[in-house]
Amino acid sequence: MGQAMPSYAGMPTWYAASANPAPQRPVLQGAHRATVCVIGAGFTGLSVALELAERGIDTIVLESERVGWGASGRNGGQLINGYSRGLDVLEARHGPAVARELGKVALEGAAIIRERVGKYGIACDLVDGGLGVALTAKQMRGLEEEAKVWAAHGHKTIAVLDREGLRAHVQSDRYVGGILDPLRGHFHPLNYLLGEAAAFEALGGRLFEHSQVLRVDEAGPRPRVTTAQGEVVADTLVVCGNAYLGKTMPRLSGQIMPVSSQIVTTEPLGDLAAQLLPSDACVEDANYILDYFRRTADGRLLYGGGIVYGGQDPASVEAKIRPGLVKTFPQLKDVKLDFAWSGTFAMTLSRMPQIGRLSPHVYYSHGDSGHGVTTTQLLGRLLAEAIGGQHARFDVFGNLPHLPFPGGQRLRALLSTLGSLWYTLRDRLGV
Ligand SMILES: Cc1cc2nc3c(=O)[nH]c(=O)nc-3n(C[C@H](O)[C@H](O)[C@H](O)COP(=O)(O)OP(=O)(O)OC[C@H]3O[C@@H](n4cnc5c(N)ncnc54)[C@H](O)[C@@H]3O)c2cc1C
Repeated sequence: MGQAMPSYAGMPTWYAASANPAPQRPVLQGAHRATVCVIGAGFTGLSVALELAERGIDTIVLESERVGWGASGRNGGQLINGYSRGLDVLEARHGPAVARELGKVALEGAAIIRERVGKYGIACDLVDGGLGVALTAKQMRGLEEEAKVWAAHGHKTIAVLDREGLRAHVQSDRYVGGILDPLRGHFHPLNYLLGEAAAFEALGGRLFEHSQVLRVDEAGPRPRVTTAQGEVVADTLVVCGNAYLGKTMPRLSGQIMPVSSQIVTTEPLGDLAAQLLPSDACVEDANYILDYFRRTADGRLLYGGGIVYGGQDPASVEAKIRPGLVKTFPQLKDVKLDFAWSGTFAMTLSRMPQIGRLSPHVYYSHGDSGHGVTTTQLLGRLLAEAIGGQHARFDVFGNLPHLPFPGGQRLRALLSTLGSLWYTLRDRLGV
């Protein structure tokens, strides 16, 4: 296995090993005052922080470990538009008016990424284009329907591909067809975050690493957060710790379930990488427990899949992921895997992200449920709007019901595992 760069020692990912040079940020020491304090330097935390800094609002970000240490710096790097549930499902659940409002902003997250990459010159290997691929005729009908739903919400450039058409993008016999969305894409998520962090600091923002928030005091007129060596008193607190927040704020941990997913990267493949994925689009299959993969800028295959409800790491990531990789690309039967890692995201019962307020001055956002690269950018912007007094777009999400998991914290993982076995069986049978 490859070694992570010293600055990200302990993070065994290809992203850490290929991270752009970045300074170690200071540890919070002593008493500080800020207009806004953000917990967590992942996609959500840095998105809201950068939005606030752009508006001239004095902001402090506190991160337990390093920038991008959580799901955001270890994911598949795929920009998937929309949510973990389709706009048609959301319409059936919440009615056409809510679905229309959710549809209006469903492409904004990816647009924010493209905007910031351009504006701040962030070197993060951003590539346009992504595929959803079907293993069965039933899944293909689902993808065709998805393209129609997107078109009804104004996104009309998704192409439907049959088996042959798909081969121009993915050299695998597994798929019966797919959809190509030019507004999807992929990037190096950790380098994107490091670019956002630098932009935030250039605008006057203060970012502290190795500064885990141990206590949140909401009782006084202003929220106060305490770390091992310091404290911040702010007018507003924004909690963006997601699955890595653990039990720091029990009111939040009860609303989500930690779920881990695993990724490997192969050794550099030379010309073979472009043969396997000729158009360099990223790929996500349509299974309930899905596989996702793409090329990296240095010519590896990055392949992810599998999940563990409850968020534990499996005994061997390689043993878990290699069989799917080889099934997709038998040519890679003997390929060496240079990196293998696990990361944890937060899932909600509805699979929709949850944003809201715990009290007048404490906001939170979590639970992007496996598709968070783009929604976190959007929700960061909506949080900043709400803090600035504009609630209309924030409320579209804030008003969605936040349902607790059946079985509580003890049984939720077991019940979800049983549910997913049922859906996996249906995927295998193609029904
Ligand atoms: C393996 C994997 C693959 C994925 N692939 C994709 C993909 O390809 N496309 C996609 O759309 N989504 C994907 N996702 C989901 C996506 O990565 C997440 O939805 C998203 O990154 C969540 O961002 P976040 O900022 O909310 O949380 P996180 O990135 O987890 O950030 C939370 C941060 O808060 C910090 N923190 C927690 N508690 C404290 C505390 N008490 N004090 C200070 N700091 C604290 C953590 O250290 C962490 O850095 C994937 C997730 C995983 C795990």
